[in-house]
Amino acid sequence: MSSDKAKVYFGSVQHGKASRFASFAAKFDKIVELLLEQITIEKKDKVAIKMHLGFNDGYQTIPVFFVRRLVEAVKKKGGYPFVTDNPTAVYNAVSRGYTQETCGCPIIPIAGVKDGYTTPVEVNYRGIDTLDLAGALKDADVLIDLSHAKGHGSCGYGGAIKNLALGAYSGPTRWRKIHGASHVDEYWDKEKGSPELAKKLVEVCPYGALSYNEEKNEFRRNYHDCRQCRTCLEMDHGAGVIKLPRESYSAFNEMMAIATNEVLKTFKPEKVMYLNFLMWITTYCDCLGCGQPSIVNDIGVVGSKDIVAVETATLDLIKKEGLIEKNIPPYNKHVNLNPDEDLHPFTRVHGPYKDPYETVVFAEKMGMGTSKYELIEILSAEETMKMEPPKREFEGEPTFF
Ligand code: SF4
Repeated sequence: MSSDKAKVYFGSVQHGKASRFASFAAKFDKIVELLLEQITIEKKDKVAIKMHLGFNDGYQTIPVFFVRRLVEAVKKKGGYPFVTDNPTAVYNAVSRGYTQETCGCPIIPIAGVKDGYTTPVEVNYRGIDTLDLAGALKDADVLIDLSHAKGHGSCGYGGAIKNLALGAYSGPTRWRKIHGASHVDEYWDKEKGSPELAKKLVEVCPYGALSYNEEKNEFRRNYHDCRQCRTCLEMDHGAGVIKLPRESYSAFNEMMAIATNEVLKTFKPEKVMYLNFLMWITTYCDCLGCGQPSIVNDIGVVGSKDIVAVETATLDLIKKEGLIEKNIPPYNKHVNLNPDEDLHPFTRVHGPYKDPYETVVFAEKMGMGTSKYELIEILSAEETMKMEPPKREFEGEPTFF
């Protein structure tokens, strides 16, 4: 195998024996062990485990079961781990089972209790001068980017890059600046557009992605909800009053890559590792705060020291697995299921301008890693099928009989 390929470890949910030694937890532990051997944790290093703890009624975030195992493994290496996320998610994390007691380490709001503990980082992109980087993350010595891989409304996919690009900044940066990158290109001609046309367009959009404030004469597209179905363009009859600029969709992806790069600049490369959980692969991300049907089967977990490789491997595995068509929510009326088109499942669901690989391509161009990877499966079903399991125990350590 060529040495310029990044190693990506893969643990599948499929197993070769119904036994603990071949289980998904055993694979996760092994991948964590392999990665922790390859990064540097000095004694008393503060180790940030950046994950999304979810909101409200969302329960498809990474189970505390795995967080605790990761925390214990970091402690064994001499590090002082802490779980971190935005202050809102931290505040009500207990509703989803995450507490200091269950995780085994403190849970710290990433940008302080009032979301104001930040440092500006200069980006100068599309008129956006600075982003407010979260202080608790910047203070850490080591970063473990622990991400849930799933769909995302604005760009098709959310994983390791999105976990940092949006999750490592204050709320105003996340919502106004990073999402705002899509709103720089003009998509509504104020001079030519009438309030009557604006109202008709709002009515006609099948996804409620358009809104109009008559008082301010402000017309807005919510790029997260837009499926690029072109219904609004058809109503415009080619007059050019409303546009669907391709570059607006790319801008969010490029902005995410830039934001992530700024986070990574604050860590030494030997002090960062990535774990992506390819489970509960839903249409939208966990910010929605509600359960959703999985549109792709559970696949497993991947881990790497290379963010581009881990994201590429994640997307490739999801593409190979394909959509569970019957689980696609009925309100999504523009899913492209044409088998003759070589599309990623997330593009099929979110629309042609939402290419999940795009932000990864930007990240590679910025030098954050390589898309060339070697997938190393840990304890594959083929391997464990041939292995002799230890004596089976149904109620071991300790037993209460
Ligand atoms: S392209 Fe379709 S989904 Fe997007 S704003 Fe226009 S009508 Fe709405």
